[in-house]
Amino acid sequence: MEGTSEGDEPFIYRLNDNGTGPNLVVKVCAERGWRMYQGYNGSEEKWNIWWRSSAFPAACYKTLGDWQFMNHIPKGGSICRKDNLSRLLRCMRRIYGTIYDFTPPCYHLPLEYAKLVSECSRLRRDEGVAGSSVVWIFKPVAQSQGRGIFLFRSVCEMSCGTAAVVQRYIERPLLIAGYKFDLRLYVCVPSYRPLTAYLYAEGLARFGTDKYTLSDIHNPYRHLTNSSLNKTGPRFAECKDRIGNGCKWTLKQVRRALIGRWGAAEWLVWQRIRALVTLTLLAQAAGTPPARNCFEFYGFDVLLDDSLKPWLLEVNLSPALGTNCEADIIVKQPMLHELFDLLGLPMKHTGLSQLQGPPNTQVTSCSSEDESGTSKPVRTGGARRGLRWRRRRTLPVHCVNLQAPTNEKLTDTPGDGTVGRQFKISSDISTDSTDLQSTSSMATQSADNADETWRGGYATVATRRKIMNACSWGNGVRWDRAVGRVGQWVRIYPHLLPNEDQVPMEDARESVAHVSKFIRAAREVSRDSGGDAAIRDSARDSVFEAALRRKLQYGAHFEVWHPPF
Ligand code: ADP
Repeated sequence: MEGTSEGDEPFIYRLNDNGTGPNLVVKVCAERGWRMYQGYNGSEEKWNIWWRSSAFPAACYKTLGDWQFMNHIPKGGSICRKDNLSRLLRCMRRIYGTIYDFTPPCYHLPLEYAKLVSECSRLRRDEGVAGSSVVWIFKPVAQSQGRGIFLFRSVCEMSCGTAAVVQRYIERPLLIAGYKFDLRLYVCVPSYRPLTAYLYAEGLARFGTDKYTLSDIHNPYRHLTNSSLNKTGPRFAECKDRIGNGCKWTLKQVRRALIGRWGAAEWLVWQRIRALVTLTLLAQAAGTPPARNCFEFYGFDVLLDDSLKPWLLEVNLSPALGTNCEADIIVKQPMLHELFDLLGLPMKHTGLSQLQGPPNTQVTSCSSEDESGTSKPVRTGGARRGLRWRRRRTLPVHCVNLQAPTNEKLTDTPGDGTVGRQFKISSDISTDSTDLQSTSSMATQSADNADETWRGGYATVATRRKIMNACSWGNGVRWDRAVGRVGQWVRIYPHLLPNEDQVPMEDARESVAHVSKFIRAAREVSRDSGGDAAIRDSARDSVFEAALRRKLQYGAHFEVWHPPF
């Protein structure tokens, strides 16, 4: 579909291939005044955003118009299969060394079965009893939610019928009140070429619901932290020591639990997580063609061990958006609204697009999920928690009207640290009219597997133009001038924007060097300031932030990421 949606025409969202999908997406879209796509039976072609749980067929990218957006990037899901992720990170480890040591050693089955067996024998030989009691975790590559996963000590215990990865099990995870947990972090990548990545400040911790012990490796509720699994566990609803009932916390709760015990090391862990996310994205950036009006929204799963080292477990292409408990509602609903704000998608028909006065708290339409998992619009005066949140929420930012770009310039005042800052959307895609004309055809080229010319980076004027076009979206948002922070979405990469006349950096080696410099500086800050045990509150974050900026000589435009305190 070509052309624009103008004036008061509703913004239309399309959900999967049949209109069913996460309730929260339906609810948030309704709150933004968007209308659900009605053309699943072929009667209507017009839509503005297509939200799909799985990847899009390549053909969909070819017909993408200026005012259409999709929630996947061509090839953006390579890091989301367990075996691909491990291959990519292994490759980066070979090139860049120990900075990529954040995933447990991993073997791909059936291909690397012999290697696994020989590693097990080596451990037994070199480490004796300790080596033979090493624990491994078997994970089928194409499954999720803990399905098909089991732990074992000897390869004889392993039955392998499907393609799987076997990973060294992190035997000493960080525990809270004896319970294992992992972290779910939300990441948005609106552009891979050049890489532009945002990390949401809030997130979730998911707990096992039985206390952790290595003496019983076959009880999944002790060892797997998937909430889909733990909610079926016998102790899920019990009020557990410190954890409470259920199995989820917000990151804010985790920070508060860790800060007393770990002091400055607690701050450092979030900086290490930021680096881990960036390095993982860099692993697939070069293999991703430039694509316009497309974004990826990932769920990164990270486990902390008992020395507070973060380990990447996996990356999810369509992180769960179910809201089954208080923590889900606190985190996911604002996160999704602010994601759309970040992407410059409008807030219409709610009165909110005017940016005048407080948001309308009377949500008249949300959704419910029926037993078969489908969502349908319902009228409600309820959704009480959602309403509570909406009353507290600051005015939406980054809202645009769906108008063709004009010559207005982007106003970005990054780094002032305010949450929910307003800024104007750039419509200065280019003063070069040929650039404007070619933007739709860019999307066409980007998905074309046969067209590999983009692999040349900035080697030619043409490839440079393609990349610059791809990061200028049809709604006027320019990712080469990406804003530092929208709501709780914080830009983690690039660390600084290039000057107006500079080409954004694409070189992976330089990018990894930047991350390495960042990690070194963060370590120094936490070590130098770590003696000040008295500061144990949010004031400490500002002190560390200022110290980090000074050390990196980055100034206020550099955004420091950490969960809220
Ligand atoms: P799935 O896609 O099925 O969720 P994951 O890789 O996320 O698979 O693993 C499921 C759970 O198993 C994780 O949430 C974590 O609790 C645990 N887990 C996975 N890999 C490891 C590991 N190497 N060491 C310790 N725990 C792990």
